[in-house]
Amino acid sequence: MFHHISEVLSDNFIGKEVALRGWIYRKRRMGKIIFVVLRDSSDIIQCVIEKKKIGNEKFKELDKVGVESSLEINGVIRKEERAPTGYEVDVKDINIIGPSYLFPITKDKSDEFLLDNRHLWLRSREMNAILKIRHTVFGAIHEFFRENGYYEVQGPIFVTGAVEGGSTLFEVPYFGKKAYLSQSAQFYLETFIFSLERVYTIAPSFRAEKSRTRRHLTEYWHAEGEVAWYHNEDMMRDEEELIMHIVQKVLEEREKELKFLNRDLEILKNLEKPFIRMKYEELIEFAQENGINIEYGDDLGADEETAITKKFDKPIFVTHYPIEIKPFYHRPDPDNPKVVLCHDLLAPEGYGEIIGGGERIYKLDVLLRRMEEEGLNPEDYYWYVDLRKYGSIPHSGFGLGVDRLVWWLAGLSHIKYAIPYPRTIRRTKP
Ligand code: ATP
Ligand code: MG
Ligand code: MG
Ligand code: MG
Repeated sequence: MFHHISEVLSDNFIGKEVALRGWIYRKRRMGKIIFVVLRDSSDIIQCVIEKKKIGNEKFKELDKVGVESSLEINGVIRKEERAPTGYEVDVKDINIIGPSYLFPITKDKSDEFLLDNRHLWLRSREMNAILKIRHTVFGAIHEFFRENGYYEVQGPIFVTGAVEGGSTLFEVPYFGKKAYLSQSAQFYLETFIFSLERVYTIAPSFRAEKSRTRRHLTEYWHAEGEVAWYHNEDMMRDEEELIMHIVQKVLEEREKELKFLNRDLEILKNLEKPFIRMKYEELIEFAQENGINIEYGDDLGADEETAITKKFDKPIFVTHYPIEIKPFYHRPDPDNPKVVLCHDLLAPEGYGEIIGGGERIYKLDVLLRRMEEEGLNPEDYYWYVDLRKYGSIPHSGFGLGVDRLVWWLAGLSHIKYAIPYPRTIRRTKP
């Protein structure tokens, strides 16, 4: 029976013989001894391999192969303070399963090179940690929604309408006609609430982002929720709970990985509800007082949000944006129709928007008026308009960029490190 490395890194295993399998992470020879640091999905361990114990043949073979060769080993665990994870294996036997010569990834490689070789770079301890954090985040999102009465649904990816505006639509040929890749499942989620009331989906969204920022991918993972009868504030409360739940889970399950990535854990550990709430107007004032060049009516871009959120160590809900800078479906505030009942959630520490959400227009005449003002043809959105004709209800929803969330939680410098195969304006490989 094989153990995972993390299991045997324990005093309980001292003196016991174990079988391990994995890949060579580091290797160095000192005369008749070869030191191998072996890695598997769980951790790394130093292995001491003496010629006299495994025999000439195998020693020679091991001497020839390079890092990332796959191995099975048998040996006895002992404590060794100087070893990278505090224990080592006194090896009795090895089997080389798949040799590797000249693994292309070495310490001095450029970022571009590592991106071109993501299929190999996934083996790095950094990517291993990030992938585990992602795993926990996706699991926690499903858990939260399911524990709170949301049904999981699936919308289409080939669509014919824009949710977030035409400029970032990817057009695809579709049997002699045009279709687009979905930018958001929102409009479809709205159709489901008349049947299921609370729904969510986790799916890729596609946006032809031409801007080069630290936070835009062309293909990203979008966790979206939509709830019947919810007003803007109700939605924000669920989002707050969702983020708290994810942070708790990540701290419980992934502290080791966060530490490996040098993430400052204090901010995550001290996170508490309620998050900060600021109206757009207040945020603009705050920004101006802090010397950030922005005026009322400007949309907040990546740079402005970075500058603003550097001043905070807690997420901020920004509400009541001017109607002109938000898409047509947001419900105008009955008390001040120049602004809409919406919210963006900005992650602190210089990260910025991770959620966009709000209350949707539910009255037919208001929706038709807003579409006209935005120059949209209601016929193109006939099914979306229909929802306002048959038992319409107030409702709200949101979209969370999962890669953005991982980017912030893991404290990464660029979103391309938060997703295994990033897609950007210049990259569709590997
Ligand atoms: P941004 O202002 O950064 O362009 P957005 O306001 O266009 O984002 P929304 O339409 O509100 O984005 O989408 C909901 C969420 O999806 C965003 O809050 C963000 O977390 C995520 N998101 C949007 N665009 C991207 C992208 N290009 N890459 C990664 N995540 C994205
Ligand atoms: Mg955008
Ligand atoms: Mg935005
Ligand atoms: Mg947004």
